[in-house]
Amino acid sequence: MINASLPELRRALDGGQISSVELATLFLDRIDALNPQLNAFITVDRDGALAAARAADARIAAGTAGPLTGIPLAHKDVFCTEGVLTTCASKMLSNFVSPYDAHVVSLLKAAGAVSLGKTNMDEFAMGSSNESSFYGPTKNPWNPARVPGGSSGGSAAAVAARLAPIATGTDTGGSVRQPAAFCGITGIKPTYGLVSRWGMIAYASSLDQGGAFGASAEDCALLLAAMTGFDERDSTSLERPAEDYAAALVDSPAGAKPLAGLRIGLPREFFAEGMADEVRAAVDAALAQYRALGATTVEVSLPNAKLAIPAYYVIAPAECSSNLSRFDGVRYGHRAADYGDLADLYSKSRAEGFGAEVKRRILIGTYVLSHGYYDAYYLQAQRLRRLIAEDFRAALAQCDLIAGPTTPTTAWALGQMADDPVQMYLSDIYTIAVNLAGLPGLSHPAGFGADGLPVGLQLVGDYFAEGRLLEAAHRFQQATEWHARRPACAD
Ligand code: GLN
Repeated sequence: MINASLPELRRALDGGQISSVELATLFLDRIDALNPQLNAFITVDRDGALAAARAADARIAAGTAGPLTGIPLAHKDVFCTEGVLTTCASKMLSNFVSPYDAHVVSLLKAAGAVSLGKTNMDEFAMGSSNESSFYGPTKNPWNPARVPGGSSGGSAAAVAARLAPIATGTDTGGSVRQPAAFCGITGIKPTYGLVSRWGMIAYASSLDQGGAFGASAEDCALLLAAMTGFDERDSTSLERPAEDYAAALVDSPAGAKPLAGLRIGLPREFFAEGMADEVRAAVDAALAQYRALGATTVEVSLPNAKLAIPAYYVIAPAECSSNLSRFDGVRYGHRAADYGDLADLYSKSRAEGFGAEVKRRILIGTYVLSHGYYDAYYLQAQRLRRLIAEDFRAALAQCDLIAGPTTPTTAWALGQMADDPVQMYLSDIYTIAVNLAGLPGLSHPAGFGADGLPVGLQLVGDYFAEGRLLEAAHRFQQATEWHARRPACAD
């Protein structure tokens, strides 16, 4: 049952083979057994989960269940959850119990999904390894000496180790796609504005976007469909007709090649240097499989992609320095025990509450926004952002979707980049441009490297092409079994 797909769990729940309470207990017991090693969860909400599962069982019995009713899930600890600790993996919020639910959390509650708890992450979602968490790093279920990726590393590790069938995440520069790749699962970050940011603790507001993790594209489709929807409390929330992504995953007509007619663009710049040989081998083999399924590939170019990291590391810190100014030790969160005047309260509370990476970014952001530097840095970065978005537009005019590696390497060793933040920033080279352009991106398992660690393939589509990305990945997964591989702890 722990490795069942969402449609299989739905049938088991509706057919009475298992109750939602039994299913939640199964996963809660796995969390108790495995979380001490993996550290994927910051908070486990056994009582809340069992209460929600009882309510779900009543709905199933009454015949009013929806696709996610009674299905356990985990939320990244960046989403506010009423009555449950919401820490953002920071000492600053280590005592914060939210008085309200994030929009995503209320949508999933209304759908009848059962939240098991809150997953570990990089502090305030800043990082690519989960090592900046105040609660200590999450371990990669494939090899506990490796990082799970970040910042949504706890959610990705939880799904990979089957501590939860599905999980929410957020992606500002790759934080859904990169940990999905490192943990051998599927993750999707939709078009900016599709998932409400209300109650999702802000890092860089013009880039932050909620996303979904699952073992397969089909499981992601079911979760994503329940997370999207207009929310007037988020000024960038988009009013769009609801899409049933899972229902759109229909089998191709008999005899037809499942991906016939699909044109996949391969950005020349992503296949130049920089990719590890083992990643290249897996990505090339996956692309050959796409061609065998009927897709054609065409070379495209993203000439300004190399500017994505410098532009991002001006824009994201600038927005974070502004967003994180609300943590002042006065209204909520950590407050220093000893202080003199008000300024001293602010500075001591912030000095004690934030970790090193968060402080580094606040300092960079404050600098680039300061008088005299705004034009040179922030405005310039916004211009680069526009060029990058235009590159994607031109490339997507020549193909239906873009494919390439999700990350240049497989998961690195814990501690390996601890003293070299810039090296870690560079590891997001393939994912960050997608956030700058606001486009949807998906990562799915594409094979394994020499040391048995998963490799991810990234698909990028035009605005609102989530359905197309999920369908391509689904058809690939129907013909392959990389996504069905599990680490030893979930075998
Ligand atoms: N690794 C990137 C950063 O540190 C992206 C993180 C994210 O997407 N939240 O900012």
